[in-house]
Amino acid sequence: MRDHSSVHLDTRSPLVLNTRDLPRRPGAMRTVEQSIPAPKDLGLELIGVPEGAAVRLDLRLESVSEGVYVSGTATAPVEGECGRCLRPISDTLVVNLQELYAYEHSTTDETTDEDEVGRMQGDLIDLEPALRDAVVLALPNHPRCREDCPGLCPDCGVHWDDLPEGHTHGQVDPRWSALAKLKPEE
Ligand SMILES: [Zn+2]
Ligand SMILES: [Zn+2]
Repeated sequence: MRDHSSVHLDTRSPLVLNTRDLPRRPGAMRTVEQSIPAPKDLGLELIGVPEGAAVRLDLRLESVSEGVYVSGTATAPVEGECGRCLRPISDTLVVNLQELYAYEHSTTDETTDEDEVGRMQGDLIDLEPALRDAVVLALPNHPRCREDCPGLCPDCGVHWDDLPEGHTHGQVDPRWSALAKLKPEE
């Protein structure tokens, strides 16, 4: 069993849920419907939820014998850029959350690993790791502005959509390349 006292949850953090008003009686339930500001780094390198953007939580907190079962959805705006053409992408992401948070010193707490089952700290639940996992899993590793984005011409950097058909760059004669370098920058 790990030492829970090493992590202190901040009750002011919007992703720390307080279950004080949820009776520890199996079947007791309450809902959480609120918007919270996104923590930073919620996403991947090329696409993610902007820090501070409104994340809508629609959750059900249910007492079960060993802890609290949290289920529902988080809805958040995502912004990023196309991995092929660098055009900005904006979208709305809806992720499902389904996570059991075990009471401290419950059998589940004593017999499972923390990466299998979440843990409560007193009455507190830290939703951030589950939210982070769900968001990261739902985001594309290779974001595209559209499925068949052709990307950019490697020579001039213009989107293939904006170039005429058959667009090419004639090879510069190596004898002229020295002169080309002398040309003033435009
Ligand atoms: Zn693109
Ligand atoms: Zn080109």
